[in-house]
Amino acid sequence: MTSTLTLTPARDDLIQSRNFIGGHWCEGADGRTFAVVDPADDSVIVPVVDSSGADAKAAVDAASAAFPAWRDAPARQRAQLIKRWHASIVEHQEDLARIISREQGKPLAEARGEVLYAASYVEWFAEEAVRAYGDVIPAPVDGRRMTVVKEPVGVVAAVTPWNFPAAMIARKIAPALAAGCTVVCKPAEDTPLTSLALLRLAQEAGLPAGTLNIVTASRETTPAVVGQWLKDPRVRKITFTGSTPVGKHLARESADTLKKLSLELGGNAPFIVFEDADLDAAVAGLMTAKFRNGGQTCVSPNRVFVHGAVHDAFVAKLAERMAKLTVGPATRPDALIGPMINARAVDKILRHIEDALDKGGRLVFGSTRGLGQLGPNFVSPALITGATTEMALAHEETFGPVVPVFRFGSEAEVIEIANATPYGLASYFYSNDIDRVWRVAAALESGIVAVNEGAFASEAAPFGGVKDSGYGREGSRYGLDEYMHTKYVCQGNLKR
Ligand code: NAD
Repeated sequence: MTSTLTLTPARDDLIQSRNFIGGHWCEGADGRTFAVVDPADDSVIVPVVDSSGADAKAAVDAASAAFPAWRDAPARQRAQLIKRWHASIVEHQEDLARIISREQGKPLAEARGEVLYAASYVEWFAEEAVRAYGDVIPAPVDGRRMTVVKEPVGVVAAVTPWNFPAAMIARKIAPALAAGCTVVCKPAEDTPLTSLALLRLAQEAGLPAGTLNIVTASRETTPAVVGQWLKDPRVRKITFTGSTPVGKHLARESADTLKKLSLELGGNAPFIVFEDADLDAAVAGLMTAKFRNGGQTCVSPNRVFVHGAVHDAFVAKLAERMAKLTVGPATRPDALIGPMINARAVDKILRHIEDALDKGGRLVFGSTRGLGQLGPNFVSPALITGATTEMALAHEETFGPVVPVFRFGSEAEVIEIANATPYGLASYFYSNDIDRVWRVAAALESGIVAVNEGAFASEAAPFGGVKDSGYGREGSRYGLDEYMHTKYVCQGNLKR
């Protein structure tokens, strides 16, 4: 089954199905393609290039050739081009949102929000491009001038996931270009169309040929494509967002060429509601944090811990709110939760629910089966009480609209359980005790702590994790450094 994707008539060219290398849209060397499908009904949207190692190498050839001129361009000039790209993304918000919704499944309103979120990183780094300051160090000995300059690392390879097809790639490409690097990228096989459209807009904005290149690849050929970049010494940095096992694989396989790495990996976020919390605010925060993109976000609360004194009241309020969540395809204006990305995702979610019920959990709301009447990849939001650390959902990212509630008795106990995971991306807690706020924020082992807040993401703040959630930060003033190295210039006395 195939289906059409309707855009602003004049902008059908935003649906690209070929690679973009060295300023040209081109077929793959092997002539193979793979289908991009709509997760709402598994219909084929369009076939795109299934690249090979040869295509990946051609992309690096182009990025490598373009690097010296882009590196040496005045920062203001780079900033202006990135700003033009930003303006074009904002101008085409609606078309981009339709592409996102179609290939990824999130409701259109959320997809529009994602476009602006992606654009905010592009704007931020256009502004940061002119602020890659170095340092002058007071020399500890006579006769020396000691300075520090920041330089772009070189060719950057970006590999991105499917859950935020615009934001994840924008927040890698924008800082890389701002720093003076050139880029090769490979979007997730489920959602390449958004990335291709973004590159089309970058091309229009006037980015020089070769500065930005993209190859698409299926699940089967991805290891060969990315593998080509891992072994190529000209690629100086890998920036990756995705699962922890793949992130570790990239770290191992890039060791021989000692590349710089940024790894934004999986999470297992705790969401803690203390007995002194504002319960209505906590329920509202959880609804925002948990159900964005149907729970398919790396910072989605995966484990909800509620103090025994407020447990029943919290669960009752939450169940009431969850009952109002409408599930449906992105085309339904009232849909708040779209389809999950594919059958594997649905299987994992249903397995987690069944395992929790087998181990004594109670299903307060939801279903142990998918919502087949809507389409193959729809599931109901689910609320499970009596969650315990024996359950799979306590250890694995569910990546779906499932809320397991654990009951706890003391602050020390909940901090220990919250930290008892190899992951450390985001944590949330609700409390109105100021001493506790600082104590718990310090004790939680994660790169991000949200206090009395369900939506913290911002281009102005550093996003990233600790432990198995990876390293490196995206966004903020720290984000530019990830694409630069530090050169120390020591000047001795000149001969007079
Ligand atoms: P994934 O690791 O399966 O895929 C991510 C990317 O890696 C895709 O482009 C994929 O094609 C590629 N890939 C897969 N196998 C590869 C291999 N052997 N060699 C090279 N590349 C390979 O992850 P996913 O399922 O697409 O995304 C979901 C995961 O991403 C979740 O774990 C989520 O928490 C994480 N995530 C993290 C962040 C963050 O900022 N920390 C943001 C979004 C998603």
